[in-house]
Amino acid sequence: MTLQRPASVTDAFLQELVSRVPSTAGGTWKLTEVYTGEVLVELPQSTPADIEQAFVTARAAQAEWSQWPLAKRLKVFKKAHALFLANAQKTADLIQVESGKNRRMAIEESCDPPMVISHYVKHAKRLLAPATLGGPVPFLTTSTAIRQPKGVVGVIAPWNFPFATGISDAATALIAGNGVVLKPDNKTALSPLWGITMLEQAGLPKGLFQVVCGEGPDVGPTLIDNANYVMFTGSTATGRVIGERAGRNLIGACLELGGKNPMIVLEDAQMDDVVEGAVFGVFGNTGQICMHIERIYLPESRYDEFRDKFVARAKALDVRASYDFGPEMGSLVSPDHKDRVQSHVDDAVAKGATVLAGGRARPDLGPAFFEPTILEGVTTDMLAGSCETFGPVVALHRYRTVDEAVALANDTDYGLNASVWGTDLDAACAVGRRIQSGNVNINDILATAFASKGTPSGGVKQSGVGARHGDQGLTKYTDVQNLAVLKKQVMGARPGQDYDDYVKGMLSGLKMMRRMRLR
Ligand code: NAD
Repeated sequence: MTLQRPASVTDAFLQELVSRVPSTAGGTWKLTEVYTGEVLVELPQSTPADIEQAFVTARAAQAEWSQWPLAKRLKVFKKAHALFLANAQKTADLIQVESGKNRRMAIEESCDPPMVISHYVKHAKRLLAPATLGGPVPFLTTSTAIRQPKGVVGVIAPWNFPFATGISDAATALIAGNGVVLKPDNKTALSPLWGITMLEQAGLPKGLFQVVCGEGPDVGPTLIDNANYVMFTGSTATGRVIGERAGRNLIGACLELGGKNPMIVLEDAQMDDVVEGAVFGVFGNTGQICMHIERIYLPESRYDEFRDKFVARAKALDVRASYDFGPEMGSLVSPDHKDRVQSHVDDAVAKGATVLAGGRARPDLGPAFFEPTILEGVTTDMLAGSCETFGPVVALHRYRTVDEAVALANDTDYGLNASVWGTDLDAACAVGRRIQSGNVNINDILATAFASKGTPSGGVKQSGVGARHGDQGLTKYTDVQNLAVLKKQVMGARPGQDYDDYVKGMLSGLKMMRRMRLR
């Protein structure tokens, strides 16, 4: 049976979406349906002049937007929340055609922006309110911290969660009063374009949220040079390039980067839960989740039991192209990425690793399909042992002591996510605290941490700088102005006062304030 593209993804709808991309002389890029490799639409590419113009337009709109009372801005996002949920299936259609992920993951992705919006609609008033604090002289001085938007934020998003990373981060910057210029990955520009359409339907002023398209190295420099802040999600290698340029321009940057995330199974873990957790952790989104699991550490006593159940489950997974909720795993994002995943597996096998399940591409299913793959005997001199594979590939390892498991989990340059499984929660949390990782999930893979929108989520070591979510997820898009008021001039010698006397008075005043805990 031939695969029917979702009914909502019509040529007219696609043309309407891509018409938002400014492009005077940049040509086009062929955006394909991943399951079939067929061209969906010619995506306009933006020139440096187009990008500069996008910033000019966004900046003009931002000057007005930042003057809107916060409650009026939040009204737009309350409406957007309802629209995003009402259109979740249509959003999932677009996410699926451009990324090839299975529908279960596409629909979950469609829920991220409404969750983030809901959180900040509730907390923006508290986070953006001016905070009046005491000044240096009690009663006579005040200092007020005033949150001001940065201006226009450049958001650079990857292909693995194009709608979530493109729209959730941008929505947060907009709530804080900024304009946004977004650069999605060429492969996955459709769902972010649709997100902007919905935001404008909810009342977001036109021009405030711009999209520019093109290959990263072509678009990146002009985008960063015009932005007041950069929010980047992508690989560690690109993060370094972005961070360097932002640093040279003396603007802030939040960098959400790659991982090589470990899962530690403790002796007392519930094995059936662990196996199901690992199936999602390794094969969810076809292994293309930044927080997914690429290394599993098991105690000697539980290794065989886990391996046998996990391998059986992986071999039985329903992997195929479909726009319904049937398949448990979909495609990789592109034939190029499939080749990268294959090269990691081939390198591991050439250096002595054993394939327990999968290991091969599946051209019979589509141009970028790859089998759920489980390896044994992987060492750190192999690509799959030290670099992020970012595919449905995992290595199983035995450990003798918990100390050894922790040391192995920490033996990486990355520190994005870790997962620890055990029945004794205190013991599992104690292990979790010893892992050098920005996120640690106990008895879960990633969702508990990522969906906790009130807590910052980011990477440590080479996995990132800064975080999304939590208070700082919003306040990072603001500058703090310190508005200080002196009600009466008392800071200095009075006319005719001897300076020695003034200093004595000042020092005893400081002592008294300390005693009275005024300072
Ligand atoms: P990538 O770094 O190749 O690309 C990410 C984005 O940056 C794309 O839009 C790309 O076009 C752009 N880009 C590339 N070079 C650029 C340059 N020189 N200047 C400006 N922009 C440039 O990453 P990818 O392969 O698209 O995404 C997968 C990576 O993203 C994985 O490493 C994954 O772990 C990571 N990721 C991290 C998180 C997180 O929250 N930590 C979330 C999702 C994905």
